Amino acid sequence: MSNSSVENVVIVGTGCAGLTAAIYTGRANLSPLILEGTQPGGQLTTTSEVENFPGFPEGVDGFHLMDSLRKQATKFGTRFEQALVTGVDFSSQPLKLHTAERTIETRAVIIATGASPRLTGVPGEKELYGGKGVTTCATCDGAFYRKMDVAVIGGGDSACEEALFLTRFASKVYLVHRRDSLRASKIMADRATSHPKIEMVWDSAPVAIEGVEAGAVSGLRVKNLKTNAEKVLPLKGVFVAIGHQPNTKPFQTALPCDENGYLLPETGSQVRTKIPGVYVAGDCADHVYRQAITAAGMGCQAAIETERWLAEHEG
Ligand code: NAP
Repeated sequence: MSNSSVENVVIVGTGCAGLTAAIYTGRANLSPLILEGTQPGGQLTTTSEVENFPGFPEGVDGFHLMDSLRKQATKFGTRFEQALVTGVDFSSQPLKLHTAERTIETRAVIIATGASPRLTGVPGEKELYGGKGVTTCATCDGAFYRKMDVAVIGGGDSACEEALFLTRFASKVYLVHRRDSLRASKIMADRATSHPKIEMVWDSAPVAIEGVEAGAVSGLRVKNLKTNAEKVLPLKGVFVAIGHQPNTKPFQTALPCDENGYLLPETGSQVRTKIPGVYVAGDCADHVYRQAITAAGMGCQAAIETERWLAEHEG
């Protein structure tokens, strides 16, 4: 490559998608630079047992899986840098990524920034978030709630998984869902609804999290959406599991997104964008499958596309 200060490819994000893209582009001798943000390893590092990643019949610890991917990426020459992308200029080559410290020039970019947990926005949630009883990660914080009552808000696979994990510690787990049937897969829904420690709170939306004055959660006020009746569940911990929002803000002016902020690839491709040399992979561009294995698959596709594009446009 003619200008050695210009990278071949910069991968933004170190989840399953980003690290898989790094393994492939590294193995293709492209010496990828990978930028890691606030959650190195991505969402899987906050998961306990991953039961459905192919190749692990006994399941695999999420943190261990990501650590292995990172080692594999390093082995093929990936360089890691801690940096948050604050903005981009994709109007001409080389492409530019702005971080707080510097502007990085590169011929290709793979955006694999993932998604972050959503919050409900009810009073008390923000005030009591992080260490005061409101959290989005049972794996991280569940052990603090030994022999206490807690609630999980949500009705998807994440909510069921969080609720089941919490039964290891908590005395009782309320699973608060706004409808009368779970969105979760049947196997997860059956496990959750039949667990003796899980009490379903159907048709109910959170109204407020109580305990702000004392600086610690003391209860969850919920409203039955069919009867409008409100009640307070006395408990010490609230685990919010209502889905995710994509981490795409710095890219939204340069690339098309859907109404929820998910990056939109070109028709006919999962990873190619309208800008030559810019690819997307994983949960930042996938609101449908959102699995570790599909993110890894997109990372692989983006890497192969990058490799071909660089070869075709070698200066
Ligand atoms: P999800 O499937 O989008 O479910 C979000 C849940 O939160 C829904 O039940 C939704 O209710 C509820 N919700 C959304 N906004 C709410 C609000 N403001 N107040 C109260 N409730 C609200 O998200 P997810 O559970 O995080 O799962 C995401 C993806 O990852 C899915 O594809 C899932 O299959 C996958 N996943 C798989 C596993 C596994 O296989 N072990 C584990 C975790 C996640 P409604 O149902 O009424 O919309």
